[in-house]
Amino acid sequence: MKKIAVIGAGTMGNGIAHVFAQNDFQVNLIDVSQEQLDKALATIGKNMDRQVAKGSLTEAAKQKALSNLTTNTTIADGVKDAELVVEAATENIDLKLKIFHQLDEAAPASCILATNTSSISITKIAAATKRPELVIGMHFMNPVPVMKLVEIINGYATKREVTDSIVELSKTLGKVPCVVNDYPGFIANRILMPMINEAIYSLYEGVAGVQEIDTVMKLGMAHPMGPLQLADFIGLDVCLSILNVLYQGFGNQKYAPCPLLVNMVTAGFKGVKSGEGFYTYTPGSKDLIVSSRFK
Ligand code: NAD
Repeated sequence: MKKIAVIGAGTMGNGIAHVFAQNDFQVNLIDVSQEQLDKALATIGKNMDRQVAKGSLTEAAKQKALSNLTTNTTIADGVKDAELVVEAATENIDLKLKIFHQLDEAAPASCILATNTSSISITKIAAATKRPELVIGMHFMNPVPVMKLVEIINGYATKREVTDSIVELSKTLGKVPCVVNDYPGFIANRILMPMINEAIYSLYEGVAGVQEIDTVMKLGMAHPMGPLQLADFIGLDVCLSILNVLYQGFGNQKYAPCPLLVNMVTAGFKGVKSGEGFYTYTPGSKDLIVSSRFK
C-alpha cells in the first residue's frame, strides 16, 4: 500500500496524516472544512519542526514528508485511487455510516476501509458497505506521532488477510499493533472512559477539586496526565460520545455519563480544542490553569 486517504483533519486526522506522510506514503487528507485542512497542514508543519529541533527528523525528510501530503474537500474525488482509507471524522454513528456508504461507492473495490473510531461498532460501520470483509478498526492514540499503540479491531466479517496486512502496516509506521474484537469501547476506552467519568463524578460531587483529582492520579498512580487534563486533551465531546456508546452498548448504569460532562459539552466547553474545559488553554502557553468555574 502506498496511497492513503485520511478522512477528517481534526485532532486525530492531522496526526494520522503526519505519520503516514513521514513514512513515505502518499497521503490525501480530506475534510468538509477547508479551514480545518489549512489548520491541519499548519499543525503538521509545526509538529515536524519540533521533531527537526529535537533531532528525530532531518530538514530534508521533513520537506519530503510535507511533499507527500495533498488535501481535498470531497470524498468522491479524494479516494478514487486510494489503497487504504483511514476515517477519522467526528465520533457520530450516523455520520460514520454515511461516510462509509460514500467510501464504498467511491473507493476502488480492493481498497481497505479502516476507521479510527474510539468506540462505535466496526461491524455496524462495515454493514453500511458492500465490502464488510475489507472494513477494520485502526485506532491510533493521541498524539499520533508520539503514541506507539494502534488498537486494531476486527469486525465480525473482517477477513484474516486484512487484519494481517493492517498489523504489518502499523509496524511499518513504527507502531505496536494490538488486535482486539468488536465490543463497545474495545479495550482502550472500555477501561479508560469509566476512569475519566469517575474523575468527573468526583469533581461533581465535591469530593475534591480539579487539581487534587489530577494530582492524586499523577503522583499516586504514576499516570503522566491526570484524568481531567486527559479528558480535555481528548475532547470532552469525544469522551461524551464514547460514554454514550458504552452506556447504550452494555445497557449498564455504570457507564452513564456524569451530568457535569453533559452540561459542559452542551455549553460548548470541549477542552483544549475549544480553549476551555476543566482547564483553560491559551495558544502558545504551556501553563496548566484550572478553569475559573472550578476555583
Ligand atoms: P475532531 O472533532 O477534532 O475532528 C473531526 C473532523 O472531522 C473535523 O475536522 C470535521 O470537520 C471532520 N468531518 C466531519 N464530517 C466530515 C465529513 N463528512 N467528511 C470529512 N470530514 C468530516 O475529532 P477527533 O478528536 O480528531 O476524532 C476523530 C475520530 O478519532 C473520532 O472517531 C474519535 O472518536 C477518534 N479518536 C479520537 C481521539 C482523541 O483523543 N481525540 C483518540 C482516538 C480516536
